[in-house]
Amino acid sequence: GAAEARLITNNPLSKAQHDLAVGTLPGGNTRTLLHTSPFPLCMKQGKDAYVWDIDGHKYVDFVGELSAGLLGHSHPTIHSTLLSTFSDTGLSLGATTPHEQTFAALLCDRFRLARVRMTNSGTEANLHALAGARHFTGRRKVVVFSGGYHGAVLSFPDGKPAANTVDRQDFVVVSRYNDLSLARQVIEQTEDLAAVLVEPMQGAGGCIPGTREFLQGVRQAAREKGVVFILDEVMTSRLAPGGLGWEMGLDPDMVTLGKYLGGGLAFGAFGGREEVMKVYDPRVEGALAHSGTFNNNTLVMCAGTAVLREVYTAAVCVAFNERGEKFRERLGKVAKSSRLSVTGRGSLIGLHFTEDGTQEIGCGEDLRGKERPDLRDLFWFEMLEAGFWTTRRGFIAMILGTPDDELDRFVDALGDFLERYRDIM
Ligand code: PLP
Repeated sequence: GAAEARLITNNPLSKAQHDLAVGTLPGGNTRTLLHTSPFPLCMKQGKDAYVWDIDGHKYVDFVGELSAGLLGHSHPTIHSTLLSTFSDTGLSLGATTPHEQTFAALLCDRFRLARVRMTNSGTEANLHALAGARHFTGRRKVVVFSGGYHGAVLSFPDGKPAANTVDRQDFVVVSRYNDLSLARQVIEQTEDLAAVLVEPMQGAGGCIPGTREFLQGVRQAAREKGVVFILDEVMTSRLAPGGLGWEMGLDPDMVTLGKYLGGGLAFGAFGGREEVMKVYDPRVEGALAHSGTFNNNTLVMCAGTAVLREVYTAAVCVAFNERGEKFRERLGKVAKSSRLSVTGRGSLIGLHFTEDGTQEIGCGEDLRGKERPDLRDLFWFEMLEAGFWTTRRGFIAMILGTPDDELDRFVDALGDFLERYRDIM
């Protein structure tokens, strides 16, 4: 109550902006996730690892655009690449260009894909991967996991497809992520099965890593069943040089990508084994069409090329995620014996406030009925006042250039917060 009252008092311009926005956008919003009650804070600028709201507060950015903002705001390499592409190349040339081939070669090399296609979002990448797998196998059904998020129209929050999921009847949802025997049973028993679609770490589902045993077992079950194993690396490709699937030894048939790989611009991609991706080869009779006006837009092709070649190299990726591991361990240590538990991997972190502070989080179902959204909201309010922009849901995506002393300051702020409210924490 008191924290929320301070938020309202301290942010009159955000409140006014929200009142204006509801006049034209449902709920004042064009990305449902960003709505927070009583009104969202409205940002006006980002620079490096910081953002500023329209009321003039400065925050360390721990939202990291839900992982798409890995490079930080206005990274100098991306900045100069975008400017030179805009002025020297032009935006979209209504033709194939060398730029998409250059970017594709880098993506294939980095993520061990034989062929790749570009899209404008991770959602689209998954939709096309699914269409491809269905075409390749001539079958319809897809096994997914409870808590899985594969895009705006492909999400499976509590054991079933969300209301807006496309072709809902074609998805069979395994009710617990990280439960290999259950997954194996569902895969074996499902008829007309085309594909298994899984995240190597559930991102939106709470930053819950899949165990090596689970992921390898699911991969093997898909192989035995003769279905396409699609690994959704839209969120996790940042966690290891070849993606998390490579790190886990998964050898997927198809991989979907997105987020930071477009340099912070709208981007997605899907790729994989040559024989599967061949369903998209227009030289082959009966091939599937995969269209999209902006699929090969020059800004993203050139920005993405710069990301892989100059910014997020394999060495940078390893060092960045090691830094993330250390940061998460420190947060976990501070939170020990409180109601907060810390999950995640590398540079992606999940914060969970529960009744019993459970450390055993293998799937969303382990949290069900135990969550304390009141404590989570209190944390969010208090971190705002301490100058940290985090997601209301407790997801942190680190940014490459965040100074060490800001990470230290966040660890201290968390410690202060848990101490100040120790009666309820
Ligand atoms: N798949 C995963 C694992 C994601 O985390 C997301 C986005 O959060 C998507 C797919 C969808 O990507 P986009 O928001 O670019 O459509």
